[in-house]
Amino acid sequence: MSAAPSPSHDHPDPTPDALIAARPQLTRHPMDGLLFEGVPLAAIAHAVGTPTWVYGAATIRARFRALANALADARLPAHIHFAVKANDHLAVLHVLGHEGAGADVVSAGELLRARAACIPAARIVFSGVGKTQADLRLALDHGIAQINVESAEELAMLSDLAAGMGRVAPVALRVNPDVDAGTHAKISTGRARDKFGIPYAQAAALYAHAGTLPGIAPRGLAMHIGSQIGTLAPFRAAYGRIAGLVRDLRAAGQPVAVVDCGGGLAIPYRDEPVAGPVGLAGAIAAEFGGLDVELLIEPGRWLIGPAGVLLTSVILVKRDGGSRFVVLDAAMNDLVRPAMYDAWHGIVPVGATDLVRALAPADVVGPVCESSDTFARGRALPPLAPGALVAILDAGAYGAVMSSTYNARPLAAEVLVDGAIDDDATLHDGGRARRAAIRWTTIRPRQDVTTLWRDEAVPDWLK
Ligand SMILES: *Cc1c(COP(=O)(O)O)cnc(C)c1O
Repeated sequence: MSAAPSPSHDHPDPTPDALIAARPQLTRHPMDGLLFEGVPLAAIAHAVGTPTWVYGAATIRARFRALANALADARLPAHIHFAVKANDHLAVLHVLGHEGAGADVVSAGELLRARAACIPAARIVFSGVGKTQADLRLALDHGIAQINVESAEELAMLSDLAAGMGRVAPVALRVNPDVDAGTHAKISTGRARDKFGIPYAQAAALYAHAGTLPGIAPRGLAMHIGSQIGTLAPFRAAYGRIAGLVRDLRAAGQPVAVVDCGGGLAIPYRDEPVAGPVGLAGAIAAEFGGLDVELLIEPGRWLIGPAGVLLTSVILVKRDGGSRFVVLDAAMNDLVRPAMYDAWHGIVPVGATDLVRALAPADVVGPVCESSDTFARGRALPPLAPGALVAILDAGAYGAVMSSTYNARPLAAEVLVDGAIDDDATLHDGGRARRAAIRWTTIRPRQDVTTLWRDEAVPDWLK
């Protein structure tokens, strides 16, 4: 797989206008340029500088409610557990927790973050292929809802630990359904060769064994086959296999109360057709609707991806023969998805005049000393002068959480907007009350560069 995103699509990229039109959280204002939930991104850049992550609370809420409504309409007793690894900022977790979301965590740190954001332990499930003794002890101490166990070895370890603590661990077995999610290899987790979950053929025996172990209370089954899954077929196939296992277990006298359906629902980064929440709810209902099980889902990307942008400035434009390189002040250390997964992200100018200029192809890159520090190739963009602002879209998931300080680049600032996402005229004309209710706050200042080496020590014998 090549490291840089290549224009392998068979039709032209959507224009900035088309990208904006497809996203209710984005609007164009003739004077203020690109608005995010009604707030001019230029105002945020002016106040906070760039690069800056901007998240939208109204967008997060609207997406959570759309998903919850889809599940309710399908008459599914399903709880939404946000996959914290997609975006673990406390403010984001607060918004989701307030909506009633639980959390799916994959480390002690995420568990503590979720608790710090006031998500009750009773709404937390713990996933992951390598939980340490300390992770498991913490989970038991907090009394979280469920530990998703991924191997016979982990089950034995948890049994010893829980029994020693005089606790009973509520356990779901994460089963690998051996289904290819048809997504990028680096984000597929449900094939037999992937490291995740208990092999399907061994799951029933291990479940029965779990019921005999001290300190273990088996509640049900869990699965998660990968991320950015755009069609329903892999979900249907995997759910069907898990539903079959529920029936087999019950037929053998094992109680199964819960099925955790995992996450993985895709978002359209470009203009790809994706299965939305209604389709997902339908797939869940088709396989589990008649089974009388409590259901969990663990979406990360779908809830938070479109609710964030990476706001960045043009440092300079380099012309090389026939190419135009737009060099941004954001880089792969901030948003690694294009370098790591060949991911396509929309890139939209922010300035009011830039939004109406003629488009021509450009390569959009960051300043890091790696060729893979490339956000887009041959992307249709207007002429952009040094200092021009652009927004990299759909950067709310697997964005800031995957940042590094490579090249001694401090972590970018983060801002939370709480605005309006209905792009009707009231927002722009006569909507003063509406506009006055719009707020935004810096939720993490730009990291001070000296903090990068604050905890480093130079041995005395070198001085
Ligand atoms: C990453 C992960 C998720 C979330 O995946 P998305 O594609 O962001 O929805 C859910 N469950 C588990 C176990 C995960 O590892």
